[in-house]
Amino acid sequence: VAASPRPHVVLVASPGAGHLIPMAELARRLVAHHGLAATLVTFTDLSAPNAHPTVLSSLSATQVSTVALPAVPLDDLPADARIETVLWELIGRSIPHLRALLRDISSTASLAALVPDLFGSPVLPLAAELGVPAYVFFPSNTTALALMRSTVELNDGAASGEYRDLPDVLRLPGGVLLRREDYADGFQNSKEPAYARLIEEGRRYRAADGFLVNTFDEMELGNPEEIKQAVEQSTFPPVYPVGPLIRPSSDEDGASACLEWLDSQPTGSVVFLSFGSAGALSVEQTAELADGLEDSGHRFLWVVRMPSLDAINFALFTGHRSDRDDPLAWLPEGFVERTSGRGLAVAAWVPQVRVLSHPATAAFVSHCGWNSTLESVASGVPMVAWPLYAEQSMNAVLLSENVGVALRPRATRADGLIAREAIAAAVRELMDGGEKGRAVRLRAGELQQAAVRACAPEGSSWQMLQEVAGKWKAAALGRQKQ
Ligand code: UDP
Repeated sequence: VAASPRPHVVLVASPGAGHLIPMAELARRLVAHHGLAATLVTFTDLSAPNAHPTVLSSLSATQVSTVALPAVPLDDLPADARIETVLWELIGRSIPHLRALLRDISSTASLAALVPDLFGSPVLPLAAELGVPAYVFFPSNTTALALMRSTVELNDGAASGEYRDLPDVLRLPGGVLLRREDYADGFQNSKEPAYARLIEEGRRYRAADGFLVNTFDEMELGNPEEIKQAVEQSTFPPVYPVGPLIRPSSDEDGASACLEWLDSQPTGSVVFLSFGSAGALSVEQTAELADGLEDSGHRFLWVVRMPSLDAINFALFTGHRSDRDDPLAWLPEGFVERTSGRGLAVAAWVPQVRVLSHPATAAFVSHCGWNSTLESVASGVPMVAWPLYAEQSMNAVLLSENVGVALRPRATRADGLIAREAIAAAVRELMDGGEKGRAVRLRAGELQQAAVRACAPEGSSWQMLQEVAGKWKAAALGRQKQ
């Protein structure tokens, strides 16, 4: 007798390397460890060409299917539309294509669940229409989710135009204290259209059956009882920490000039600097960072991107760089020559998990994107927090003040820049083993162990995913019997 096909989960990854990479890993684990079949849905538009092809080709060796939905028109959106708006519109307008795909899949298999990511709330009504569970994949941490929840709950019953501002200081479950300037983008001011969009989005999340969050217990400090209580009293669906979901280094391209360069550096000697898929510094800040690195006297590998006044560069996000762009041309005169031998500046997309897990790499100056953070922690590499956009400021607070795995130089100059002295001091503190530097390094080592434990069989994240997959399979079986 032929075995009936496995229940099938469909994951929908919005554009952006930071969404696609952990969702691909989630799909892989659901298939490899938890008895499900999976399709990972992506979008033809804005598909982040840097990460997209390699992530998808690495999945071809697994049993995860991949489908890119056809392009939809977006040219009516204003040229300066925020990235979040573009993503919501893209996904909303793609729903008919997704519906057709789901009908197709359910003609041969039993649908187990729909899993859109944080920008995919337009997908949730489709799950209700088809009668399947819906879980939102949240690629950041539970603190970021708690900020969303607090904002929505503060505005329950309020209509657009009457929304209330969050307080200047917010205490989140677990004891994280956030100041207004560290709130994620869009949460600072209730008068801004972005605030209203976030509330609408957050309200739609309530239609989900749960959140799968890319984190693990030890990354979420604080009193576990308090966190548990807050979750129980929440008006939001339950939270399942299932991370860290990190791309295996073997999936990344192993042939790269920066890996070759790292091979020739002493163990534990190199500071790695990268600001994610789309982070950009101003021309002046780029120069200040270069000076600070030079002053520190340490070895470095720096992924340099085109300077921009916007902390997030849309062209970088979608990977549509112009061939004429040469970010290295913006480094200070003579910098490359003066640091040659001990420093390497590259403009290319680097295999970041391989770089972080390389024995030569000792510290990471990072924009605190949550994937980069988890990759650093999983390699036991301490960080210098340099937040730029999205929820990175709050991640920087969490990492430097609560988790204790990062140092955070501050922008104390009158022009708002982080000064070369502060940069050199943070790098030296970490690399030369000052008291704070040693504490942060120790913590990185502890978290590395905890990350391994969380994802091993019987570990907390493995168990969470097992529990959720069990619910999905039971529901699929129930529907089959009807
Ligand atoms: N990344 C990479 N090479 C690069 C830049 C980024 O492999 O040159 C990967 C990085 O390892 C991470 C993802 O892209 O997995 C970026 O996600 P993150 O959440 O750190 O930041 P975002 O780009 O979403 O702001």
